[in-house]
Amino acid sequence: MGALKGKDIVSALDFRREDVEELFKLADHLREEMKDEGVLSYGKGKVLATVFLEPSTRTRLSFTYAMIRLGGTVIDFGPEAASSRAKGESLEDTMLMVDGYGPDVIVLRQRTPGFAAKAAEICKAPVINAGDGWNEHPTQALLDVYTIWRELGRVDGIKVGIMGDLKYGRTPSSLSYLLSKFNNVTIYYIAPDPLQIRDEVVEKVKGKVRYYKVGRPDEVIEELDVLYVTRLQKERFPSPEEYERLKGSYRIDRDFLMRFKHIPIILHPLPRIWELDTSVDALPQAKYFEQARNGMYVRAALLKEVLGV
Ligand code: ASP
Repeated sequence: MGALKGKDIVSALDFRREDVEELFKLADHLREEMKDEGVLSYGKGKVLATVFLEPSTRTRLSFTYAMIRLGGTVIDFGPEAASSRAKGESLEDTMLMVDGYGPDVIVLRQRTPGFAAKAAEICKAPVINAGDGWNEHPTQALLDVYTIWRELGRVDGIKVGIMGDLKYGRTPSSLSYLLSKFNNVTIYYIAPDPLQIRDEVVEKVKGKVRYYKVGRPDEVIEELDVLYVTRLQKERFPSPEEYERLKGSYRIDRDFLMRFKHIPIILHPLPRIWELDTSVDALPQAKYFEQARNGMYVRAALLKEVLGV
């Protein structure tokens, strides 16, 4: 413990396996403590500044709850349109200002890939990347793998299908990076060619995980321990026509899953749109709402470690 104190969290590649395992145990521990006491006192006197310049439900709420339940305070930047960003202030200046008031940690989501690293350079406070465009979303990967660890009791040796928009999605890349810290993991990238995983992701996991690219889920579903479904990132598509063309290229519903002898655990970072039907929700393998709830505990663990409290 202690390795993450004061550290920026920009990429899922930044974590060592032992840090991840410590965070998972701490998340379980905080879960019990919060059950007993509600609000804890580790975060007393500490301030988290949240800056979300792209839409967010779970990441913003779970970081806010996590900090408040640790006993700390949260200052939210508010909507971009109500800030001086709307007058043309640069992202660099905005972050300099946010940091200037002296928060103990900053959680930042914005749409420029790679800017999280820049913000980490600019700010004195540790910066946690809560999504930088299509690039990465490292704390989502933490809660994804935490959910797998809780459900299966292990991460080594598992087979995971990551399906959907692997090109414009930031959760498939961060999940791949975090899984690459474990032993003997197999990843099946399930997507039509135009939405297949980006080359730079493959380059970074090569030699650390076994991976295959496949076009359809039925080719591999019975092999899998986990099927991780993602939505098409409509807002990142170059044209609405391209979105319409690829829409419907995959969709999971109960009838589809019931065709197989073995149904893997189903995860989804959410929001789901049409790719994961509500008919799946009643199956015992549907773990995506649990996964979202897990986010609060794992983010509390991360905040506690980064704050060093
Ligand atoms: N909520 C996740 C993200 O922010 C997944 C998604 O939006 O599709 O990347």
